[in-house]
Formats: sequence, C-alpha cells, structure tokens
Amino acid sequence: MPNEHFISVSDAAAMQPDYIVVGGGPGGCVMASRLSEDPQTKVLLVEAGRDSDNFRVRWPFGTAFMVTNPKWDWGWETLPDASMEGRDVMWSSGKTLGGSSSINGQVFMRGLKSDFDLWGEAVGGNGDWSYDDLLPYFIKAENYNGPASAVRGRGGPVNVVEVEEKHPIAEAFVKIGEDMGYERTDFNGEQPIGFGHTQANQKDGMRFTAYDAYIRPNLRRPNLGVLINHRAARVLFDGNRAIGIEVVSPDGTHTSLTAGREVIVSSGTAGTTNLLMKSGVGPRQMLEKAGVQVQVDAPALGHNLQEHPGFSVSRFIKGAWSFNKAQVRPDLAARYLFRLLSSKHDGPFAGPAILSMGYAHTTPDRSGPPELQLHFMPFAYRLRPGDKSPVKAEIPKRSAVLFMATLTKPHARGTISIADNDPLGRPVISHQLLADERDLQHLVSGAKILTEMFTSPHVAPYVVGQCNPAVDPADDAGWVDYVRRNSYTAYHMCGSARMGQRNDPEAVVDPELRLIGADGLRIVDASVFPVIPSSNTFLPVVAVAEKAADIVRQGR
Ligand SMILES: Cc1cc2nc3c(=O)[nH]c(=O)nc-3n(C[C@H](O)[C@H](O)[C@H](O)COP(=O)(O)OP(=O)(O)OC[C@H]3O[C@@H](n4cnc5c(N)ncnc54)[C@H](O)[C@@H]3O)c2cc1C
Repeated sequence: MPNEHFISVSDAAAMQPDYIVVGGGPGGCVMASRLSEDPQTKVLLVEAGRDSDNFRVRWPFGTAFMVTNPKWDWGWETLPDASMEGRDVMWSSGKTLGGSSSINGQVFMRGLKSDFDLWGEAVGGNGDWSYDDLLPYFIKAENYNGPASAVRGRGGPVNVVEVEEKHPIAEAFVKIGEDMGYERTDFNGEQPIGFGHTQANQKDGMRFTAYDAYIRPNLRRPNLGVLINHRAARVLFDGNRAIGIEVVSPDGTHTSLTAGREVIVSSGTAGTTNLLMKSGVGPRQMLEKAGVQVQVDAPALGHNLQEHPGFSVSRFIKGAWSFNKAQVRPDLAARYLFRLLSSKHDGPFAGPAILSMGYAHTTPDRSGPPELQLHFMPFAYRLRPGDKSPVKAEIPKRSAVLFMATLTKPHARGTISIADNDPLGRPVISHQLLADERDLQHLVSGAKILTEMFTSPHVAPYVVGQCNPAVDPADDAGWVDYVRRNSYTAYHMCGSARMGQRNDPEAVVDPELRLIGADGLRIVDASVFPVIPSSNTFLPVVAVAEKAADIVRQGR
C-alpha cells in the first residue's frame, strides 16, 4: 500500500480525533478499525514503527530476518536471569504496522476454556471476561477455511488456514500424540486438548497480519488516520484526565496531538508499560526514583509480568526436508522460494515454522488442564552462552528438526519498571523464568516426554543422530541443567497492566480496561491479561480488543 494512505503529523494534529490509539499491533489495529466503523467517530492510529508493506513481512519465513533486527524489532533486553544461568536474553516485539503479528510465527490458537474462566475469576465481579464472554469474539474475528462448526467463524477479518504443507514428521508428531492417548484435535474447536496440525493466520501462503485484517481494507475511511514512524513519547494529562499524546517525528521534532474522548494505549506489554511509566503513571516510589513526576499512582503497573518459558530437543534427520539444509543449499532455498511465489503458493517457505502441536500433561492424571504445549519445527538450533535469541543461535548445517515444550501456566512472575525519565529510553525487564521449582519440574518432565517421542516408530526412521542435547543427560540434575541453559521464551509477554476490580490492589485497569485512577485512558493489548493463556497470544489479544471495542461503543 503506497504511503499516501498514511497521514503526516501536521494532518494528524489538525484531525482532532475522538480517539487516539497508540500502537498499531493487534490490540491497536482492532480498536482503530472497529471504532472507525462509525463514520461519525474520528480515530487516529499512531505507530512508532514503519509500514509493513514489505516482502519480509508477507513471507512467513521472514520472521528469521526481522526478529532481533532493530528495523523491525524493539529487541527489549532483560536483566540477567539467575534462574537461567544468569543469561540476559532479548524479548522480541514487532516495531511496524501489525506489531508482533508482522514478525511472529503465525500460529493461530485461542487457548483453553479454562484459561478464560480463570480470567473471569481473576477479574471478579460481573467482569464478563470468562470463556463464554470471549467466545463470540473469537468467532467474529476469524475467517476460517476448515470444517464448519458452531464455535468456528467465517467471514471475519483474520484469514485462517489449515496449513497445507504436510511435513512427514509433522504428521508423525500428531500420531505420537495419539499413541500417548490424546485425540487429534482442532486447537480452536470445542475440545482443543490433543495433538494436531497448526492453523495459521495466512492467505495464499503469505502472512496475514492484524494490519492486513483490520486496517489495510479500511485505509480509505475518511474518519481514520494512520500516522507511522512516530513514537509516542508520553501521554498528556490535564489533572488526572488523559487528553492526548506527544509524538516524536523521525527528525526529532515533538508534536502534541489531542484526543476529544480517549487515549487508547495499545503499545504492547513492554511498550505500554514503558510509555505509561515515562508519562508519570505507575508505582509512586519507583517513578520518583526514576525522576518522573507522578500523574497517576498506579501501584500495580509493571507487576504480574508473564511469559511462557520453553526449550527444544532436536535430532539430525534424513528423508524429510529441514530449513537447516536450505541454509547451506541455495538451490533448495531457491526452489522453496519459487514454490512460494508460484500460483500454488506452497512448499516449505509457505508454512509457519511450527507445523504441528500438542497439549500434554506431565503426570498420568489428565483431569486438569495440560501443563505443556508441545511444538514441532522442521528446523533446529543450539543456544550458546551469550546468545540472546534463538535467531542468533548456532544453526547446524545438517538437516535437523526439533520438538519444543513450553509451559502453559508458569507460576513465576516478573516485573517491568523504568530506571530513568528519558521518554525514549528502554524499560527494565526483570524475570526469573525458571525460579519456581514447580515450573522447572514440569519442564524437566517435558524434556523426558520429548526425548521419548523421538524414539517412537513414527519418527525413528527419520532420525540419524542427536543434535541437542548431543548426549542425553543421565539423571534429573542433568536435565535441570539442560533446561536452565536452553530455555528461552515463547515470545508471549503479557500481564503487566492486568485487569481487575477497582478495589483490587493488583489491578491496573478495571473490567472496562480503563486505567484506574485516571479518566480518558484505556489499555487494550496483552498487558491487561490477568493470567497468561495456555496458547500463543495473538488471537487472545484480538479477542480482548474486539470485546474492548464493543465496550467503548456501548459508552461504558
Ligand atoms: C517473534 C514472535 C513470535 C510470535 N509468535 C506467535 C505466534 O506464532 N502465534 C501467536 O499467537 N502469537 C505469537 N507471538 C505473540 C503475539 O504476536 C503477541 O502476543 C501480539 O502481537 C501482542 O499484541 P499487542 O497488541 O499486545 O502488542 P504488539 O504486537 O507488541 O504491538 C504493539 C505495537 O505498538 C507499537 N508501539 C510500541 N510503543 C509505541 C509508542 N511509544 N508509540 C507508538 N507505537 C508504539 C509497536 O511498534 C507495535 O506495533 C509472537 C511474538 C513474537 C515477537
């Protein structure tokens, strides 16, 4: 889409919008799109990053070229994590229209009913955030090409496909799950616990972002303005009422933009928390220490930070394709690219990196929700000490695949804070992902499950050797060490501005997602999740924002 569809900062200032939405990720795209459906309502969407009309974004495998690249990724670095051998890692986050949906893995997954029933309990009161309250929005959001069902949607903005590229080990992975006693399942269906092939937000073999779904088709609305390459440096307050934002242009000029009704902050978990803190919203003492004048004392902002820790176990293979091989065989890479660009839009480069998945329990008692999400990728890497991201890890040059386990419901919690009052400075992210013994034990069980899965007759014929670990640890202590050295996140940070009742000391926003202690400011992104869902987080953000847009339109 050519740049004439985006507005200049002077036009944005002249626009006098009713709502300013800060951040063009999934939360922000849904809000700007739904609120501007009413032609009488003027909406300005402000994105710090660039236009996402780029082949790297469209190409599913483009993730590998954008993650950790500062042109596309905020690349938030954490403090050293004592629970992971003191490693400081990079928490990636998309910096472009579409937000992280423009650089992510495109796995399209809702999470479990129990996840959102837990939200209902955590929010309390008549919070309306249980599974039954969110289900209509999951259905409304999607345009699913698979079998019709009462809980699946057609005709919604987000295009969802059953991934066509059937890698033989992806199918083997699902069969192993069936041998373990799990059903072959639709992860977004009535009964998502089980194993199955991935569904992806894609169209014609290409990534389909939140921007593609919600904003691109609506760029011609006269009441919707989209300002890119402008970072909000702070939210402007008049007393305790948010009245607008100050943005920084690429040339360093600062401009104030005012909102007639509300500022909606959708800058992603780290981005939102950082922006609000730099604007004087947050725990009083911490703000004062950082030299920021307090506007709204929000004691819980920055608490409750959650991520899915996980790690992989990998094997060298023969008889099936692997991205590792394409790395050293330009002829293979060219062939895959040709298939992607052909009229069929198929081949290895057309799929998401995760081709099949499963939910698994770590004990024989399967009555509760599963503790692990398992993933298959036709690719393997080895994290070395000092590697801040799997994208920067050692990539073996032989064909290899990995099985990955991530924790569905980690107990550990981290924090986001600020250390200075530089509006363009970075947040301080502190988390000990494996500090809780229960989490560690589930992951150690996961390591043994993955290792056992590789011995299944469904996959054994492909396996020719161990990749990572090179030799299996002899005992639990060895596995604990392996998990600590090899864990990373699943890129699902959330929870630092959690929703709850106004008298809940740990709540930052109320059940209508309004900042407690201020007027005119709402938060709509992954930061409001009270508890991390068991699944990937793109779709839960979309559903939250769809519901939030209804709340705003109802005048609540
Ligand atoms: C590498 C990666 C892989 C992932 N894989 C998957 C997956 O396969 N499936 C899945 O479901 N989920 C996945 N996720 C997670 C999912 O993409 C996120 O949970 C989701 O995008 C979060 O949406 P959000 O609206 O909360 O924030 P974000 O997506 O982070 O969007 C926030 C937006 O705000 C902008 N912004 C930030 N600060 C400012 C500011 N001050 N001024 C203006 N704009 C600002 C950012 O540039 C960004 O565009 C992945 C994430 C990453 C990073």
